[in-house]
Amino acid sequence: MAYLQQILFVLTLAIAVYILTRRIKTIKGNIQLGKDLDLSNQPSQRFRNMLLVAFGQQKMFKKVIPAFLHLLIYVGFLVINIEVLEFILDGILGTHRLFAPYLGGFYNLLMNVFECLAIGVLVSCVAFLVRRNVLPIERFKSAEMTSWPKLDANLILVIEIILMVAILTMNASDQILQGRDAHYTTTGPLIFSGLLVPIFEPMSTSSLIIVERFAWWFHIVGILAFAVYVTYSKHLHIFMAFPNTYYSSLKPKGEMNNMDSVTNEVHIMLGIQADQSAPPAEVGRFGAKDVNDLSWLNIMNAYACTECGRCTAECPANQTGKKLSPRKIMMDTRDRAEEVGNSLAKGGKGLEDGKSLLGDYITQEEINACTSCNACVEACPVNINPLEIILELRRYVAMEESGSPASWNSMFQNIETSFAPWKFAPTDRFNWSQELKEESNS
Ligand code: SF4
Ligand code: SF4
Repeated sequence: MAYLQQILFVLTLAIAVYILTRRIKTIKGNIQLGKDLDLSNQPSQRFRNMLLVAFGQQKMFKKVIPAFLHLLIYVGFLVINIEVLEFILDGILGTHRLFAPYLGGFYNLLMNVFECLAIGVLVSCVAFLVRRNVLPIERFKSAEMTSWPKLDANLILVIEIILMVAILTMNASDQILQGRDAHYTTTGPLIFSGLLVPIFEPMSTSSLIIVERFAWWFHIVGILAFAVYVTYSKHLHIFMAFPNTYYSSLKPKGEMNNMDSVTNEVHIMLGIQADQSAPPAEVGRFGAKDVNDLSWLNIMNAYACTECGRCTAECPANQTGKKLSPRKIMMDTRDRAEEVGNSLAKGGKGLEDGKSLLGDYITQEEINACTSCNACVEACPVNINPLEIILELRRYVAMEESGSPASWNSMFQNIETSFAPWKFAPTDRFNWSQELKEESNS
């Protein structure tokens, strides 16, 4: 029986690792659909950002209560993984509570810490479920948060609650078995699962063994399934937040990326000496029509998005009823990257499927509503930059399709011909000073 359990466990583990590895490869490939970008500069500053923003959750603490509850889930997730290691080793070796004899009294302390965290996770998940589904918080009720995104957000919270209940059930039944059967390793008293002991006490030993084994299997298979599920879910941010914050922009927020080819043209137009020795800049497509025109960082941003909606809540365009949600921009970018990646994996048409990010996912109406204020970038707890994608899409519409609104086009034309947004000849630019001079003379 023990051997059968070991074989079954190793098989389950192997299947989970196989699916997980394939999925990680797919996500990596999808991110690599984006254009190359060298971000190897300033590693110490990048590492600092990652520690503060991803590990330290610095930006989350703008809202203290949700930040604290989120921290409980996050710490619970990190620390309970130590117990998962014991589960995995027990499963492979056919042992039970492998670490207990080596850690002595410390094992009891560790188990009690795990249980405290399990209760913390449980309470936080219930609070988040209520906040998401009962409280009137606008950002959880937006149009893009229906169907799968809503289900996904709720599912993960429910799964975490069930997993925590399983671990407490296992510990409670295990504690009773320790008193009845010398084969069960003694853990010492456990605070929270100890409260459940009276529920299981009347059960026979054979029934308790079944409960304990069922809870053990449920917990570990649940964790493995959870690990696979996370790669299809917005909860991928628990891993992606780290590389995402590491590679996030170190430039001041208002600084936009110039296109070298356009910058050279402008320099020539303004009579600024361009570097003659520099090789001509590669032109390619101006701006972005599809995911392959974006950078790999833009696509990685999309995979790191937690769908929290803090960006959308701060967006002035969204607040004034415009059809723009920076969260949707990120969700659409990820969905399109997934669509192209899945198609390529099946030998399909990939980017040549007749669809594109602009048009089929994101409309011109959405991107035209953006004021380029950067509020979304500032609000994002994992340093995502939806504005950069919007600007690239808008750049494509303006430069490749001349599809900007008429008022914008006349402004562009003025800049081209008069070097200013207004329709005045450059020679008239200082007329205002002439008028001032005349006034002061009179
Ligand atoms: S930069 Fe654009 S998308 Fe972001 S908050 Fe401002 S208006 Fe909204
Ligand atoms: S872009 Fe950032 S702020 Fe906006 S939904 Fe995603 S994680 Fe939240």
